[in-house]
Amino acid sequence: TVSVFGYGSGIIPRFSEVAAAFPESKEFHTLRVQPPAGNYYTTGMLNQLADSWEKYGSGLVTFHGQTGNIMFIGTNTENTQHFFNDINEYGWDLGGAGPCVRTGMSCVGAARCEQSNCDEMKIHRRLLNNFTDDVHRPALPYKFKFKVSGCANDCMNAIERSDFAVIGTWRDDMKVDQEEVKKYVAKKGRQYILDNVVNRCPTNALGLNDDDTLDVNNRDCVRCMHCLNVMPKALSPGDDKGVTICMGGKRTLKIGDLMGTVVIPFMKLDSEEDYERIVELAEEVIDFWAENGLEHERCGEMIERIGLANFLEGIGVDVDPNMVSEPRQSSYVRTDDWDVEAEKWFQRKAEEQAAS
Ligand code: SF4
Ligand code: SF4
Repeated sequence: TVSVFGYGSGIIPRFSEVAAAFPESKEFHTLRVQPPAGNYYTTGMLNQLADSWEKYGSGLVTFHGQTGNIMFIGTNTENTQHFFNDINEYGWDLGGAGPCVRTGMSCVGAARCEQSNCDEMKIHRRLLNNFTDDVHRPALPYKFKFKVSGCANDCMNAIERSDFAVIGTWRDDMKVDQEEVKKYVAKKGRQYILDNVVNRCPTNALGLNDDDTLDVNNRDCVRCMHCLNVMPKALSPGDDKGVTICMGGKRTLKIGDLMGTVVIPFMKLDSEEDYERIVELAEEVIDFWAENGLEHERCGEMIERIGLANFLEGIGVDVDPNMVSEPRQSSYVRTDDWDVEAEKWFQRKAEEQAAS
């Protein structure tokens, strides 16, 4: 294996079987390096990386690999340490590899995107920085990924590809600029708006009025982003913003692909205490999974094996009717013992309100 001092992961060792024929391929290790949150670079940063990689590596780089890392492909064992020393000096750190917390990803979000509902980069850094040890020293059942998308468009594929997906959303009414709606109708025609906006709403929450204004039933809207994407000038997220947290998404491993389950339907992320709460929640999840996950078992697979109710109990989260097995569909709510459970839920909500 190949590593740098103090680290247990981040390098993918590659030793060639055809070194006799291609001597330069004899050792061709890859370094995984964590990108900046939101993938924003300056030319200065890129120049530094390029200069060091030209000096110590093959010059081949991937921005970014499927893991979210910058992949520096092709160097020998000795130069691995030299290159790391250089870039670590500039402020870069290795990403995760193996059974550990992996490199996080966040969308361009609030810095550039009008659909953003949260501070993606701050969430990304808070979560990843808290687990730096778990990134560099693989000691978990398997990989654990954080990804942050500022809205349900989920440009980071967080729901499908991460164990802990943070998705920006809002809970008040979406903003509607009726004059802009009328302009869309005038430009595209009523039939187009009916076919491509109103009839494609997954919950039938939209209606087009005779005067070409739009009706939105915000109670039925599940914040899927479809209508906002088609008419971005007319429709935008509300003001009461926050995040939904889905857990257990993953590609095929012990069992087939899983989408993240909505475990926290809505969480405000405004104050420092809010950020501490999300980090504490992530700690609870990783601790519980580290204790209860089988070897090579992703968090979502553990949830499937032990049951969602046991998982929620393990991480100290109360069952909530807003939890759904996949965003935008399939509520977990069962109707047996409905009255008893509803009474408990209302009681809990009343207590929470009284305490706040
Ligand atoms: S996930 Fe949403 S907020 Fe983030 S870049 Fe995509 S559209 Fe914008
Ligand atoms: S965001 Fe989605 S669910 Fe909400 S009104 Fe628009 S299309 Fe319907």
